[in-house]
Amino acid sequence: PAKPIFAGQLPPGLQTISNIVAVSSCKGGVGKSTVAVNLAYTLAGMGARVGIFDADVYGPSLPTMVSPANRLLEMNAERRTIIPTEYLGVKLVSFGFAGQGRAIMRGPMVSGVINQLLTTTEWGELDYLVIDMPPGTGDIQLTLCQVVPLTAAVIVTTPQKLAFIDVAKGVRMFSKLKVPCVAVVENMCHFDADGKRYYPFGRGSEDPHVNIQMGVVQQFGIPHLFDLPIRPTLSASGDSGMPEVVADPLGEVANTFQDLGVCV
Ligand code: ADP
Repeated sequence: PAKPIFAGQLPPGLQTISNIVAVSSCKGGVGKSTVAVNLAYTLAGMGARVGIFDADVYGPSLPTMVSPANRLLEMNAERRTIIPTEYLGVKLVSFGFAGQGRAIMRGPMVSGVINQLLTTTEWGELDYLVIDMPPGTGDIQLTLCQVVPLTAAVIVTTPQKLAFIDVAKGVRMFSKLKVPCVAVVENMCHFDADGKRYYPFGRGSEDPHVNIQMGVVQQFGIPHLFDLPIRPTLSASGDSGMPEVVADPLGEVANTFQDLGVCV
């Protein structure tokens, strides 16, 4: 297992943050970044001071999902710190704002870049920092969880059976690290068309096969399970740089995120 880098001692940049929430998934493409961004903007809408750290160094989504006017992070040369960029009041840090193309990096380098971005940023006073974790439960994720004192984790999955096996892996990782998993978000669970509801990946937690996996989730005592439907507006808002919960603050999706926001 990866060694804790700051054994017991919190980097100054993180000392002014009250809650650090990891949004995690075991696979890519399940909607983890969508959940992280919409959760962050929901918390901001509730009056909290919020930052998003996009730790997905290989495929940073934040620069597509939100459109700050200033798309580059600034450096404070004197203090050797990073100043986050900002959009609609939420502070943002992503490798995608670092002014480099996507690099080919080995695991230890990735951990180094993540740690540097995360710990040398001047976040200022924040009520919540939402971390969009890299997908999976490998060394990079473990290191990150050990460096940062997470207060809660949210796991995102799609309703397939295999995805639930992965959820169990994620829950185990967080429970080993004594981080409470407060919610599972089942994304892309259904879509509505022509007045009917379709379940393209099966019925998720209502599917008898999946129930076995849900047992694992219950065993770990995760108190909340949220459904997010497939919605063209969710992917369109992800591409346009305006989070859905900001574009449609009274919609069904915004409601779900408010319930999730209360959990974290
Ligand atoms: P991940 O972070 O897990 O890789 P993303 O959040 O980047 O996944 O989502 C992958 C793609 O799927 C994005 O284009 C996103 O806009 C789209 N997407 C995610 N969730 C939904 C949804 N519920 N309905 C429609 N599109 C979605």
